[in-house]
Amino acid sequence: MKLLISCQKCLTEDKINDLNLVEVEMCDEGIYKMKCDKGHESTIFIQEQKFEILFDLGAMAFMDGYYREAVSSFAASLERFYEFCVDAILSSKNIDYGQYIKTWKMVASQSERQVGAFYFLYLNEFGAAPEPPEKKHVEFRNNVIHKGYIPKKAETHEYGDYILKYIYSVAVKIRKKHESGIEKITGRKHIIDGPKHQSYSAISIPTIIHMSAPDDSFGKITFKESLNRLDGYREFFTK
Ligand SMILES: [Zn+2]
Repeated sequence: MKLLISCQKCLTEDKINDLNLVEVEMCDEGIYKMKCDKGHESTIFIQEQKFEILFDLGAMAFMDGYYREAVSSFAASLERFYEFCVDAILSSKNIDYGQYIKTWKMVASQSERQVGAFYFLYLNEFGAAPEPPEKKHVEFRNNVIHKGYIPKKAETHEYGDYILKYIYSVAVKIRKKHESGIEKITGRKHIIDGPKHQSYSAISIPTIIHMSAPDDSFGKITFKESLNRLDGYREFFTK
């Protein structure tokens, strides 16, 4: 998968109105060093969270007919969403980031432990037990991921729809109460890698689950609508 990113220097320094798009291979960190055809070198940060990107990858796989891959990406999106919630809650409480990383390493290789961390933090924050994902959907996911089950289009659609609603139901609460934590997570990318490079800028790309969307629109889009929306923007950002 390739991302198409416009050269920010063409826009700001050379005042070229057309987007001078540069192809970069999508990577895990969301940090891209690129060079446009005019020779501008820059480092770009994609501000979107890993779970947001993963959900879109799942939706694209769905649209292209790769249903096993779609389920796998939706499931991975949910797991990274748990991590994001844990990070956002703790970051909003000014927990030292080094200590957070030290602790996360203890659960990093076992997703069940991560879900456990999320459940108890959620209880502590909202005073009520979180809703676990429905058994039916967990079993479907396990069949696909661990048993090689080949899902049909309708089953995959149902799963994607469920995961989207599930993430939204929690994300709405996290956005409301832990905005400062979310801001810290977004800003951290700059601190970790940005200053080492001569030129860097952060950009935002459209995603289905868009944590930085305005309040009145966040969490209201259905899976079906989101696919239509993705169909409209994917060609401008991916290749
Ligand atoms: Zn350029």
